Amino acid sequence: MKKIPLYGKILIGMALGMIWGLSAESLGLIEFTTAWIKPWGTIFINALKLIAIPLIIFSLIDGISNLSDVSRLSRIGGRTIALYLATTVLAVTIGLLLVNVIEPGKFLSAEKREELSQAYASDMDMRITSAHDVKEDGPLQILVDIVPDNIFGSMTNNTNMLQVIFFAILFGIAMIIAKPDKVKPVKSFFDGANEVILKIVDMIMRFAPVGVFALLASLNIDLQLMKALGVYSLNVVLGLAVMVFITYPLILKFFTRFPYLKFVKGILPAQVLAFSTSSSAATLPVTIDCAEKNLGISEEVSSFVLPLGATINMDGTSIHQGVSAVFIAQAFGLDLSLGQQLTILFTAVLSSIGAAAVPGAGIIMLIIVLEAVGIDPSGLALILAVDRPLDMLRTVVNITGDSTVATVIASGEGELVGDKGQKSPD
Ligand code: ASP
Repeated sequence: MKKIPLYGKILIGMALGMIWGLSAESLGLIEFTTAWIKPWGTIFINALKLIAIPLIIFSLIDGISNLSDVSRLSRIGGRTIALYLATTVLAVTIGLLLVNVIEPGKFLSAEKREELSQAYASDMDMRITSAHDVKEDGPLQILVDIVPDNIFGSMTNNTNMLQVIFFAILFGIAMIIAKPDKVKPVKSFFDGANEVILKIVDMIMRFAPVGVFALLASLNIDLQLMKALGVYSLNVVLGLAVMVFITYPLILKFFTRFPYLKFVKGILPAQVLAFSTSSSAATLPVTIDCAEKNLGISEEVSSFVLPLGATINMDGTSIHQGVSAVFIAQAFGLDLSLGQQLTILFTAVLSSIGAAAVPGAGIIMLIIVLEAVGIDPSGLALILAVDRPLDMLRTVVNITGDSTVATVIASGEGELVGDKGQKSPD
C-alpha cells in the first residue's frame, strides 16, 4: 500500500464505500453498517469540523499579518469578492438556461408528483419552518450577522464562520499596523500555532480513506426514486458539469497560465472529500492544504480566499437552486415570465451566499427562492428524495469554484508556475 498516494487511497475508499452502500441492503448488512461502520464516518467528519475554526483563525491571522501592507489585502479582497459574485451569477444563468431548454418538469407524471408530495410532506414542513427562521430579517441583517458581539460565542458554532473570518481579518490588520517590535512575539505564536494545526490536518487526512469508505457505505440512496427524477437530476448534473469542464477551465485559461489538469489533480483529494461529506466547511482544511501544497498558492491568499469562498461562494448550490425552482414551477404547470426568472437569478445568488456550508443547506434556502416568485414551497417535496446525491455533487463544484478563484488571485499576485518570474508550467 506504501506506493499509493493518499488521494489514490481515498478514491479506493470511496469506490469500496459505494459498492458496500449499494449492496448492503440486499446482503442484509444494514444494521451491521449502522452499528459498526457509520460511526467511523461520523468520527472523521467531526475531526474535520473540529479543526475548521482553529484553522481559519490561525492561518488567516498568520496569512494576513504576513502581507506587507493593508492595500494588498484590499486588492486581494476586492478581486476575490468580484470573482465570487461573477461566478455565482454565471452559475445560476447556466442553470436557468439549461432548465428552460430541457424542461425536466414536463417529464413528471401527475401520479408521480402526487406520490412524491405525499411521501415527503412532513420532512418538508420542517424545512419550511427553518427557511422562515432565516427569512424574517431586514435587508441589512447579512451585515449585522457578520459582526459578532462575542468572538468566543462565534467560535463555539461552525455555522458562524463569517464572524470568525471577520475577527481574524481585524486581528491580522491590527498586527500589520501595530508597532513591529511589540507584535513580534504574537507573530511567532501564530506562525508556530499555524504549523501545528496544519500537522493536525495531515494526521486527520491519513484516516481519510477509512472515513470516506464509512461515509459512503452508510449512505442510503434510493435508486428507484433517482430514476423517477432522472431528467431533473441529469439537468442539475449537466449544469454542474458545464461549470467544471467548461467554465472553470476557461477562467483559468483566461486569467492564469496554470494547466487545468494540474489544477484538477491538485485539488482531487478535496473534491473527493467534498463528495463524501457534502460539506464545504468540513472539506475546508483539505482544500487549503491542497491549494498550498499541490497548487503552490501562498498561505496569504489561500487562508483568506478559501474560507471566505466556503462560506459565501457556492456555484454548485446556485445552479441547483435555479434548476430546481424552475423544475418545480414546470411540474406545477406554471409558466414563469422573464421577470420571474430574473427574480430567481437574483434570489438564488443571494441565497447561495447565505447558505451554510453543510449538507442540505441549499435545499432549505431554495424555499426562499420559491417564495420570492410565488411558487408553493411544498413543491420541494418533489425533489427531496434525490437531494443527497445532488448535494454531494454540488459541494464538489462549490469547492472547485473556490479553488479556481484562489488560483486566479494567486496568479494575479505572480505566485504560480507560469506566472511572470516563475518557472513555466510543465
Ligand atoms: N452542501 C453544500 C456545501 O456544503 C451546500 C448545499 O447544500 O448546497 O457546499
